Amino acid sequence: MRKQVIDVSRIGRPLAAPSEAVPATGRLLDRLERPLTDLRISVTDRCNFRCSYCMPKEVFDKDYQYLPHSALLSFEEIARLARIFASHGVNKIRLTGGEPLLRKNLELLIEQLAEIRTPDGLPLDLTLTTNGSLLARKAAALKAAGLKRVTVSLDGLDDVVFRSMNDVDFPVAQVLAGITAAQDAGLGPIKVNMVVKRGTNDQEIVPMARHFRDTGVVLRFIEYMDVGATNGWRMDEVLPSAEVIRKIAEVFPLKPLEAASAGETAQRWAYEDGRGEIGVISSVTQAFCSDCSRARLSTEGRLYLCLFASAGHDLRPLLRGDADDSAIASAVGHIWQGRADRYSELRALLPAASGEADGTPRRVEMSYIGG
Ligand code: SAM
Ligand code: SF4
Ligand code: SF4
Repeated sequence: MRKQVIDVSRIGRPLAAPSEAVPATGRLLDRLERPLTDLRISVTDRCNFRCSYCMPKEVFDKDYQYLPHSALLSFEEIARLARIFASHGVNKIRLTGGEPLLRKNLELLIEQLAEIRTPDGLPLDLTLTTNGSLLARKAAALKAAGLKRVTVSLDGLDDVVFRSMNDVDFPVAQVLAGITAAQDAGLGPIKVNMVVKRGTNDQEIVPMARHFRDTGVVLRFIEYMDVGATNGWRMDEVLPSAEVIRKIAEVFPLKPLEAASAGETAQRWAYEDGRGEIGVISSVTQAFCSDCSRARLSTEGRLYLCLFASAGHDLRPLLRGDADDSAIASAVGHIWQGRADRYSELRALLPAASGEADGTPRRVEMSYIGG
């Protein structure tokens, strides 16, 4: 039998255009008064890496059934939705996946997104998260198309550790070359995200800090999260951010910095000697749901209100039916106004959502809705 982690029949909630309009005022609040400002768009559910914390090889093998091309939103459909989201107050769009640079002609989508303006007439903060494997080849074209910045995921500098974490034997040198190419192309300030798994790559924390000090790159350490249902997450493999900070500060003294913007996921720290900054994203040990202004759009047009959701709202029938932009804006408005998600704050109180066996709903995978 072909394997499919996303059971489309169960997670889809096809939408009808709502009868009551929610006009786009540039400020849309959910039930916890959180504005919608940040949209992450997954442009593919495929990836050329098999990071064990995201797309473990045993599940995402040759029999795994990815979405067919006809199911994916076209660039025009994505850009139309992005314009509608911008009219509701979204000012930042992050392209993600899967590996977004695997989507053919991605520059053509970026060109369309770069033309969008907020209600105040400003361009969007347009960025992309990538594993960096194709970045050396594509950085210049991405910049020319209008991309502002990139975030590169990199879990260690040691080639043996890195090859084993990506689980496809991909060499670290090529990702480092991608980061350099992105810097040369002007896609900075570049952020590098390192997922820390205790017992797997915690020995890479200080070498990574040393490597990226003084380069203008902002290194951020992410706590290993219990996203999806396939990575076999265990709390004892989470290395709390407080420990990351302690390890680095022993070698390079640190001082805390103010958040750059409301809703920022990372806590920032500066090197006391002025040679740059780092960040920690403590999704497990310190929930930041109260400021969460992020929505996620899956590759085939389902809107997710939380990284840990098990159901999305299917916008594609509206896009492919006869709904006009204001009807779609109203649908998005209703969905966001009904949002009360705050999974990380409730984590300790909730049963583990393992999927099938215990009857709890299966959570979507990170590779499906993006980080
Ligand atoms: N393929 C691209 C990449 O790796 O940058 C974009 C998609 S990936 C799903 C987005 C981010 O999610 C990456 O930085 C990745 O490290 C992070 N991620 C995936 N699974 C995770 C987990 N279980 N815990 C914490 N971060 C995770
Ligand atoms: Fe691919 Fe990114 Fe997931 Fe790694 S984290 S498997 S690179 S989608
Ligand atoms: Fe946002 Fe959900 Fe993460 Fe909380 S758990 S910060 S609501 S995505």
